[in-house]
Amino acid sequence: MSSFEFEAKDGFPVEYGQGLFDGLGDRLGATVVVMQRNPWETIKERFGNPPQMVIEARDLSPFALDELASSIPRDLTIVGVGGGSAMDVAKWMNWKTGLPLIQVPTLASVDACFTRMCAIREDGRVRYEGDAIPQRVVVDYRILQEAPSQFISAGIGDVLSCHTAYADWKMAASLGKSIPWDAEAAQASLKYMDVLESIAPEIAKQSTHGIKTLMELYRENGWLSHEVGHARFEEGSEHFFAYTFENVTGRTILHGELVTMGVLIISALTSNNYQRVKSIVQNAKTLHRPEDVGITPREIEETLYAMREFSIAEDYWYSWAHVLDIGKSEVTESLKALDF
Ligand SMILES: [Zn+2]
Repeated sequence: MSSFEFEAKDGFPVEYGQGLFDGLGDRLGATVVVMQRNPWETIKERFGNPPQMVIEARDLSPFALDELASSIPRDLTIVGVGGGSAMDVAKWMNWKTGLPLIQVPTLASVDACFTRMCAIREDGRVRYEGDAIPQRVVVDYRILQEAPSQFISAGIGDVLSCHTAYADWKMAASLGKSIPWDAEAAQASLKYMDVLESIAPEIAKQSTHGIKTLMELYRENGWLSHEVGHARFEEGSEHFFAYTFENVTGRTILHGELVTMGVLIISALTSNNYQRVKSIVQNAKTLHRPEDVGITPREIEETLYAMREFSIAEDYWYSWAHVLDIGKSEVTESLKALDF
């Protein structure tokens, strides 16, 4: 395979390397670690100097987060360790206390370590608030490569979403709905898809090159969405499918896998180069079949039937999710798109 080089044009400072987490606590001095139990328990021995305080990222309501923020002593460095929830809680702590922030993602399937706003939960819904900038993001290849392989392969989801998001945005803008077309930002969607396509086999292999390129895509992505003030180039109907699924079932699965399923379904239903998406998903070995991710065909069906109404009610950006008329044949085609 070619060694496709991609480096983010701009974004948060980041450090890549093997074993960077080892002794991080010694180097940082007094710390408060915001963690998710599973990765933290596995790797905490390597951290060195034990943190002064350990916070488990569980409750993402603003009230609970403010309560936590006020309990943190001054003169500590905040270290986020985990997936999206840990990154988001750590960002809130940084935003509210002004203490320095270091982010250590333990999976590559979310972009939370490279975005400034926190995804918090209120009344059962996701809302974005806050503004956090880490001193640096520490990507330790060893942690990611030791984790279950799907923590990396699911990482394509929030880049693959550019494929459907681009089509949504183009359609909506041509009708004068939601955010006006921005050729430069839209061009980024296409570029990210090209990069993703070229590194998909590297992601399946979990190579350092694959991981680094994926993280660089998220780094630029996070920077670009802050620059243009929205994420329309990367978020559309595939995410609205995912949010509808969460609302209908009251649960979720790994974000990147759920979004990947959304991209496969929407691109099949809108005749938007489904084959290309499918080959990227296959090359990256990303789980997407309902039985592989613990979703029943019935849940897919219920999600699809609810998607249009939910997207309208939630006032999401106008997209194919607002337009598609779902009937029996669309359900069948969607399940086929997931190799069911
Ligand atoms: Zn996402």
